[in-house]
Amino acid sequence: MTIFSKIMAGEIPCYKVAENDEFFAFLDINPVNWGHTLVVPRQETDYIFDLDPEHLGRMAKFSQRVAKAIRKAIPCRKVGVTVLGLEVPHAHIHLVPLQQEGDMNFSHKISDPDPKRMAELAEAIASNFE
Ligand code: AMP
Repeated sequence: MTIFSKIMAGEIPCYKVAENDEFFAFLDINPVNWGHTLVVPRQETDYIFDLDPEHLGRMAKFSQRVAKAIRKAIPCRKVGVTVLGLEVPHAHIHLVPLQQEGDMNFSHKISDPDPKRMAELAEAIASNFE
């Protein structure tokens, strides 16, 4: 069971943003910028491009809804999208609110982010999810 499956099973806490029967979204615990969100399929697949094409398409649609909620909740120019997958072997999409290119620098993460601010951000994004 991957760490993300344990989060989805409620065995590890997270700052949940959205979910449906196939996907789950929560804040990255070491965000590159405030509001950095991960979208994860419930199905355990390591590499995102190994997903069934239709499943990947639905993941993109779900990510679009989450990105819209992020943009409503957090002032930003755009929500950036990236896929790394070098650390956690469970496919996921990173969504990051951007004011400038440097806001998407994975070499400079916010370590030990304030839990209260994280909870407030997750709630704000969740309340804008449609
Ligand atoms: P990567 O697999 O390279 O895309 O990186 C995995 C991402 O998952 C990193 O940005 C981590 O900060 C994030 N991450 C790892 N464990 C957790 C967790 N328990 N809760 C939230 N985010 C996590």
